[in-house]
Amino acid sequence: MPLICERFDTLGLEDPSREVRLGIMGGTFDPIHMGHLACAEQARVAFGLDAVIFIPAGVQPFKQDQQVTDANMRFEMCKLACATNPFFDVSAIEIEREGLTYTVDTLRQLHAHYPSNVALFFITGADAMLSIAKWHDSAAIADLAHLIAVTRPGYVMTDEAKAELAAAHFDVSYLETTALSISSSMMREWVREGKSIRYLTSLAVHDYILAKGLYKD
Ligand code: NAP
Repeated sequence: MPLICERFDTLGLEDPSREVRLGIMGGTFDPIHMGHLACAEQARVAFGLDAVIFIPAGVQPFKQDQQVTDANMRFEMCKLACATNPFFDVSAIEIEREGLTYTVDTLRQLHAHYPSNVALFFITGADAMLSIAKWHDSAAIADLAHLIAVTRPGYVMTDEAKAELAAAHFDVSYLETTALSISSSMMREWVREGKSIRYLTSLAVHDYILAKGLYKD
């Protein structure tokens, strides 16, 4: 049984003198879509990441009053979507953890698992990143990982917002991608309205959503 994920549990052990860069794609992924996959791939290349692990959130503290799809199904969709990219894998550590999902706990668990030559790069949407100062033990997050905030077309991250994050000592890099004009909420809405979501996610995920009857109401 893997501790973190199937493909990358032994990362960093081969050559302890080499820095290994591990991307962590944090999100609810309800559902995962081409925007997530493209931005993980673009971040991998832009930041020279050796691997990217998608970690679907268990119970996201800011979404406790929202209806979110069963965590195991969100995990399975991520597995299906990542299967064809050898640099990607998915971890169940957040959905297996009891209680609310705090990013700081995830980063601590990853630090404890991997040797010290593995550097963590936490990737998420810029709008999610804006609230990071309100996240549980956010000061520790700044010490544990470099942060990559992904912006979507038309999304303007103001200089004030960037300055606030910098003043709070968050090491944030910004990555603009064209791929994120797809959003999970748009996809859920389209399924509800009977529109096609084919080509907005991988075919395997598309077929899974239809087979399980997800997002119909
Ligand atoms: P969200 O509020 O649903 O996402 C905000 C925006 O960012 C959405 O537009 C979303 O698009 C986009 N987004 C989310 N994940 C992304 C990713 N990996 N790459 C690119 N864009 C992404 O945020 P969320 O998905 O629930 O949470 C994001 C991450 O922050 C998770 O890892 C979560 O655990 C963490 N978080 C931690 C705390 C805490 O520790 N207290 C609190 C809040 C969030 P889509 O809807 O299309 O995905």
